[in-house]
Amino acid sequence: MASEHLEDYLFEEVVITESNAPKFILNGQEVNIWDGDLSHYHSLSVADYIRDSLLEFEKNGIDPFPEIIGKKSEKEMLKNALMSGSNVLFKGMKGYGKTTFSKSIAKLLPEKILAVKGCKINDDPTRPVCFSCKKALMEENEVELTWVGRKWVRILGDPMMTTRQLIGGLSIQKIREGHDIDSPEVFTPGRILKAHRGIAYVDELGAIPSAMQTLLHELLEEKQITTPEGDIIPMRIDTIFISSTNPANYRGTSDIKEPLLDRMEEIFIGPPETLEEEILIGLRNMKLKDGPALPDWHLKILARTVRVARMKDGNKFANRIETEPSCRATIKLFDHVRASALRANRESVMLADYGKNYENIKLGLRSRIELDYEDISKDEVISALVEDAINRTSMEIYSRIPRDEFGGIMEDISSLGVIDVERAEFSEQAHLTSFIESLCSSPVEYNSALEILLETLRRCTGVISKIECGKYEYTGRESIRERET
Ligand SMILES: [Zn+2]
Repeated sequence: MASEHLEDYLFEEVVITESNAPKFILNGQEVNIWDGDLSHYHSLSVADYIRDSLLEFEKNGIDPFPEIIGKKSEKEMLKNALMSGSNVLFKGMKGYGKTTFSKSIAKLLPEKILAVKGCKINDDPTRPVCFSCKKALMEENEVELTWVGRKWVRILGDPMMTTRQLIGGLSIQKIREGHDIDSPEVFTPGRILKAHRGIAYVDELGAIPSAMQTLLHELLEEKQITTPEGDIIPMRIDTIFISSTNPANYRGTSDIKEPLLDRMEEIFIGPPETLEEEILIGLRNMKLKDGPALPDWHLKILARTVRVARMKDGNKFANRIETEPSCRATIKLFDHVRASALRANRESVMLADYGKNYENIKLGLRSRIELDYEDISKDEVISALVEDAINRTSMEIYSRIPRDEFGGIMEDISSLGVIDVERAEFSEQAHLTSFIESLCSSPVEYNSALEILLETLRRCTGVISKIECGKYEYTGRESIRERET
């Protein structure tokens, strides 16, 4: 008899209002959740919270996604999608910030919300979803509440994923057989149900088996679940569903089912638009935050090496790269050269920190690029990319040398004889010193700046010769003539 009565509301949507509510207890005290401050932490949906905070940010002219560098138009699209309560699909290569984007969406939710204490999915006391809470809220005189922190649940797309992992176990049959409503046989939430009242982030949606995708669709769109026994149970899971897909990974093999695609707004997330953004992302995410100085020219060379690799038309070697390096490559290159300088006890990164044959750059790039055919080695391609990046950066530095200072600087350099860039002292050389100072943001960078200037002059004029890494000499026009004959 009890079971019949139970099914009346287990299959229905239960809404608790001030008039039919039990006594609510929070931290041992009776509370009125419709009173004052508490009223903000229940009854509102994830979409409501997100809309309210977006409007608040908009009103104050503040960027709601400060973790994301650049990506202005993507942010605008995202704001619009979220304002209209839509689910979002981020499409693009890995390493361009899809996960960071999804996490920053979660930050639009309140830091904490009120939930039924002990609920496996942190039910809202006024909109219970699970059997146990529906029963308690309808039948008990007193229900305990608790605070629950903001939720961001990551679900890693996996071709081997089971229904139990994704949705969980749910059985009306077990209740009819007399199992306790709280027993795991009756209800065990899977990952997606754990995201109730938070953000569900499905990383690589295309990797989820298509049968699971159908279940997801049923859950998100119909707000119901069909149990293995065939019972249709309302599951008004409240979540904004953010997912990502990397088209390159699933070419032809697996894909996102159309009905699911039809329920998401697609936003393409590409590489950083500018060199400056690429550098900022690298600096913000690198592991070695402190250590030897990482001067501007090295940041540019390293970030350019990665960016040249993505330029199909800009470099004939880049043309051979099928899988391009993401921002993670930039981050790693910054880390590797700083690590090298730290080990060598240098105050500032020097070209020697790239490694004898750019080994430290290869270390950060080899696993992050794929070539079309292996008739050329990755190492050869990487060396060519670094050379291209150094050339581009050298030309920029060359163009900064004031024309009327050029002669004076060259005279100063020639007066130094063979220059060991790490040990060179050049305070007497006024023209050289003043130009070096203009390049640097701190005196610890002087020797690194001297080196990049000599390397620039070697590449752009040919009047400087490199004896070995870190040693240069002014050889004048003769050396050019010698080379030409
Ligand atoms: Zn519950």
